[in-house]
Amino acid sequence: MRYKIKDIPTEGLVVDQALSAELLTEALDGMDADLGRSAAAVRLDVSKVQDDVFVRGSVKATIGVPCAACLKPARADVDVPVKMIFRLDEGEPVAEEDDPLEDTDFGVHDGKWLDLAPMIRELLILSVPMSPRCKEDCKGLCVVCGQDRNLNDCGHRAPELEVEPDNKKNPFAALKGIKLE
Ligand SMILES: [Zn+2]
Ligand SMILES: [Zn+2]
Repeated sequence: MRYKIKDIPTEGLVVDQALSAELLTEALDGMDADLGRSAAAVRLDVSKVQDDVFVRGSVKATIGVPCAACLKPARADVDVPVKMIFRLDEGEPVAEEDDPLEDTDFGVHDGKWLDLAPMIRELLILSVPMSPRCKEDCKGLCVVCGQDRNLNDCGHRAPELEVEPDNKKNPFAALKGIKLE
């Protein structure tokens, strides 16, 4: 996903492709994702104005993940808009200017190459839900007997948290047995 900046034509460039298995593997590394059931594609318009490279479009993905409640295979559908400006990295920290262009993210390039892979990787990582569900009202597994409560309502309730009995004791009770000399 690397493009020579000087080869980006004035009329712009359209990047419309599926992500390589390699990039997808990298992006989903550390998640419980099932790569065999995952795929992602990008559709991006890339254009440049002097040293600024504008990237707009979207990243779409279907990611196979286990349901956070019942652990059965679930699916996360991701569709993230992309609006980013890559500026020439001049080795100075980018000034925190008041951004008049809302929703726009900024990146840097070295003047020769534009690499879209890190941006795509980050967007995918951020967009996968933390607690995916196989269905909206998944009842999950019973915490008492472990049954799938979607299949069978065993009638168990989660045990109430017990109140620490020690809180009720007189904190000086332990001193009672001590004899002062
Ligand atoms: Zn579930
Ligand atoms: Zn149960």
